[in-house]
Parts: sequence; C-alpha cells; structure tokens
Amino acid sequence: MGQKSFLVKRDDLLHKHFSGNKARKFHYFLYNDFPNITTLISHGSNQSNAMYSLSVLAKLKNWNFIYFVDHIPSFLKNNPCGNYKYALQNGMQIIEQKDFDPNKLHIKDSSLFMSEGGALKEAEFGIEILAQEIEEYKKENNITDLKVFLPSGTGTTALFLQKHLSCEVLTCPCVGDSEYLKKQFFVLEHNETFHPTILTPQKKYHFGKLYKEHYLLWEKLKEQTNIEFDLLYDPIGWSTLLHSNIATQNSTILYIHQGGLLGNETMIQRYHHKWKDLAIQPLIKYF
Ligand SMILES: *Cc1c(COP(=O)(O)O)cnc(C)c1O
Repeated sequence: MGQKSFLVKRDDLLHKHFSGNKARKFHYFLYNDFPNITTLISHGSNQSNAMYSLSVLAKLKNWNFIYFVDHIPSFLKNNPCGNYKYALQNGMQIIEQKDFDPNKLHIKDSSLFMSEGGALKEAEFGIEILAQEIEEYKKENNITDLKVFLPSGTGTTALFLQKHLSCEVLTCPCVGDSEYLKKQFFVLEHNETFHPTILTPQKKYHFGKLYKEHYLLWEKLKEQTNIEFDLLYDPIGWSTLLHSNIATQNSTILYIHQGGLLGNETMIQRYHHKWKDLAIQPLIKYF
C-alpha cells in the first residue's frame, strides 16, 4: 500500500444500532413525524444492511415492520445470524414470497414503503448533512485538494454527496457494472454534472460472492488501520481505489466508512467455512 495516507470518515460510529450510510439515507424518516403511519414495508435480500437499519427505525418509531424476501434458506431459519437475527430481534415480520413484485403490492395509507436498499429521494436529506460535515472538516483543516471516495451499491449515497459537495466524489460499482451504476445515477438525477466519477474495478465481481483476495485485503486493512471495514463493499472499494491513478496523485483522499459491520458476522463465517486456512489467526507473528 506504499506511503500514501488516506482520511477515513467513520460513519460506522454514528450510533450503536443506527449507523453507516443507511442511517444517513433513512435519517429523513427518523427526523420527521408521520402521525398516520403504523407500518413500514420493504423488501430485498435476507441479510441486507438496509433490512437491519429499517428494523431499528421501525422500533424507534414504534412501527410494525414487514419485510419481503424471495427466499430464506432453511439453514438460516434454524440458525439465525447477522442482520437477519438482529432484525428479527427488533420485531421484523419476514415474509417469504417467491418472485416478489413490489409493484403488485397494495400499500395502505397507514403504510410506508421503502424501495430495496434505500434508493429513495428522501435519502438526500441525510446525505446532505453528511456533505455539510465534510465541507466543515475541509474548511477547518484548510484542505484545498480534497477528493471523496466511497463504494456504491445503488449509488444513492455517492450521487447525493456529489450533489452537495464542492469537491469531486469518486465511486465504483459493487453490485452491477459501471453502466448499471450510471443508469442508477440518471434515475435519481437527470443533470449529469451532479454525477460522481465512476472508477471501474479491475475485475468483475459478483455481489455477495466470496473472493479470497477480498478477505485478505480486508484483514490487511484491519492490521494497518485498526479499523474494521465491511466485507461486501469495502474490499472492492479499497482495491479499486488503490489500483487507480487517483491513489498516486497528490490529492487528499477521504474514504467514507459506510458501516455495515453487523453483516460481517455472517460474511466471516462464510469465509472461514470456505477457506479453512483463513480461520487460522496469524498468531505465529507473535511467537
Ligand atoms: C448499503 C451500503 C452501501 C451502498 O450504498 P448505496 O447508497 O446503495 O450506493 C455501501 N456500503 C455499505 C457498508 C452499505 O451498507
């Protein structure tokens, strides 16, 4: 990793249970009152970070939380863990429905529907606050050559950050490819001048799949920085950033830690199950 140093914005530390970019994206709903709402409805994967954050939001707001998934593996049902386990503990009602189609859902006036992963216009509210925090830091520390980097899923966080920041925002796709991400940007914002710069990862990765090199990079980052990053997005983010020419330029780079650490519990289990050698801690070093 050479001599280059990076600044890290610790959004993983925002709050014990409501942190990372999901807290920013759902901030609008926490902040405002919705007197007629009794139920929150969403859908997505059975281990999603958004699902967990919505379960916390529903609990704080005293709402019911109904979450649709395509499938829950029987192993997970019998051994709840990670985001799934903690969301259930918060009172989430999970409904398994094959080929679930949100467009066919009948949403009552007393229900609030959140699209998958929190890709919503309301997300701008909380992300603008994040942008203000970065602007303040930049000003206080007299940083004139700042660039902000964060890995993207739906691209919502990166897009609204770029909209409210005076400096360049760089991101990379973790879910689809660069073209998919560009399309996502257009859904939320027609004006291309507000779109972040997309860096393309050197390799094509399938979201949620395990890559030994990702685990090794994640472990190395933890050793070097004492910061635990997320295992789904951050290894792609860091490897893309470190291999790009941005890392070799003189600009000051701020990496945004977007939380998601609860999900690591299951990711680490899966990695250790797949590659037994990863489960052996390198204690050797200390002998
Ligand atoms: C959800 C999530 C992302 C992706 O955020 P988008 O706004 O969908 O691009 C990145 N990192 C972590 C840790 C997340 O939980």
